[in-house]
Amino acid sequence: MYKKLTEIIVSEIEGIAGKENVLREKEKLIDYSHDEFALPEVFNFPEIVVKVINTQQVAEIVKLATCEKIPVVARGGGTGLCGGCIPAYGGIVISTEKMNKICKIDQNNLMAHLEAGVTLKEFYQALKTKTLFFPPHPGEESATIGGLVSTNAGGARAVKYGTIRNFVRGLTAVCSDGKIIQAGGKIIKDSTGYNLVQLFTGSEGTLGIITEAILSIMPEPEAYLTLIVPFNNTKDTLNCVPSILKSSVRPLAIEFISKQIISIAEDYCGKHWPSMPGEVFLMVILEGKNSEVERDCETMAQICMENKAVDVFVAQAEEKQQDILHVRSIVYQALKSSTIEILDVTVPTTEMAYHIDFVEQLSKTYNLWLPTYGHTGDGNLHTHITKKTPDGKEIKNWKEIYPKIRQSIIADGIKRGGKISGEHGIGLVKKQYLDMCFDADYIEMLKKIKRAFDPFFILNPGKIFDPE
Ligand SMILES: Cc1cc2nc3c(=O)[nH]c(=O)nc-3n(C[C@H](O)[C@H](O)[C@H](O)COP(=O)(O)OP(=O)(O)OC[C@H]3O[C@@H](n4cnc5c(N)ncnc54)[C@H](O)[C@@H]3O)c2cc1C
Repeated sequence: MYKKLTEIIVSEIEGIAGKENVLREKEKLIDYSHDEFALPEVFNFPEIVVKVINTQQVAEIVKLATCEKIPVVARGGGTGLCGGCIPAYGGIVISTEKMNKICKIDQNNLMAHLEAGVTLKEFYQALKTKTLFFPPHPGEESATIGGLVSTNAGGARAVKYGTIRNFVRGLTAVCSDGKIIQAGGKIIKDSTGYNLVQLFTGSEGTLGIITEAILSIMPEPEAYLTLIVPFNNTKDTLNCVPSILKSSVRPLAIEFISKQIISIAEDYCGKHWPSMPGEVFLMVILEGKNSEVERDCETMAQICMENKAVDVFVAQAEEKQQDILHVRSIVYQALKSSTIEILDVTVPTTEMAYHIDFVEQLSKTYNLWLPTYGHTGDGNLHTHITKKTPDGKEIKNWKEIYPKIRQSIIADGIKRGGKISGEHGIGLVKKQYLDMCFDADYIEMLKKIKRAFDPFFILNPGKIFDPE
């Protein structure tokens, strides 16, 4: 279905990008054969990696690849969790790691213009020096702007301001015929025809390769407060969330996590969560003006205490708040050695408690540890499917039960009005569940969009759907 690269095509690409920016040796390709998804069964090597430095190079390479029927896969930080940047059909990986220029931080328009390979960490640092703020915080700061936009990443801080989608205002992207399109701009409102900015956001590199983005930014809030609220059980914890969401206060983040998971993360990173009674915690982050944050904190504490909280701890010192966030953010790494896959099923917030009940039941039925935590303010839960029993013993037959478990959890999420992925994307490893979410007409409509942008399925083939 696809052709292999020939020496002539490789020389043409070396001519476009410079020989020093083209990797061919197998040992140098290893890092580009996988992302953070753990199972080596899905890893695959590209034939070459090209470290592009500008949009023009991407356009010339993609045009050539389409003419020659060679797959092209865009890769940012490789921190994806669903095999999204794995070159499933070989071919060319276009790495944006050298496209890491912060073109402009426009303080008057509150817009940042960035190349696709800028990492989240670099972006946050640049904003900090100008007391500016970008609310979304997907947990891994080595992710790039191109990857974050392409997956519509979310993270903990999506409750008040939403996911990356809400911040993308303009994009420069290369289409499969090598044409460069510029969609949107430094504008807040845009009703000028179909919105390709939004269509490209979350398209996982299957419609085009993003080379630049314009993102909304905000003034840095005056103050932050982090509340840790313990409860005796999961049910009480999750039942409190609708009361928070219905209140006059909209927190930046509302996370839910058990004491057991927190202590694993503490042991892993050496930092500490406030020590307090209770078995399950809400972590609530408030931001705004000093006076507002203090008032909101009181409201929040009252709501929680009225909803069976055992106590409320308020972290005010920046260092303490950072430690708490660090412990929460390190959870994935702390559980990684036991994890086969981390799911990101999303359900209506009122269904979370029932969905977690279902997961707990499943854990008992299969005697498998399924630690679950996550972004409870927006109904997006992370269940780790592990290779262990709840009391920590290795399971030998995990390969047999793993597909049944993930299918059951996803089916339960969908049954409750949810979706397969709230933030990680479909990638390579979840596409078999798409027809549980959508009917055939809907899937056909998605495929028509794909065909319109990429008729030969050159761009990131095998992701979201199989190539035709
Ligand atoms: C510890 C950890 C914590 C995480 N926490 C969160 C979290 O809280 N929330 C969340 O949403 N995600 C989270 N993630 C997942 C991951 O960080 C995000 O999916 C992120 O958006 C991926 O960015 P990346 O640059 O690494 O993309 P990659 O992994 O390189 O690629 C991801 C997808 O984007 C496409 N892509 C990359 N660059 C481009 C481009 N320039 N143009 C077109 N397509 C492109 C790829 O082809 C692929 O389909 C976490 C991951 C880890 C390891």
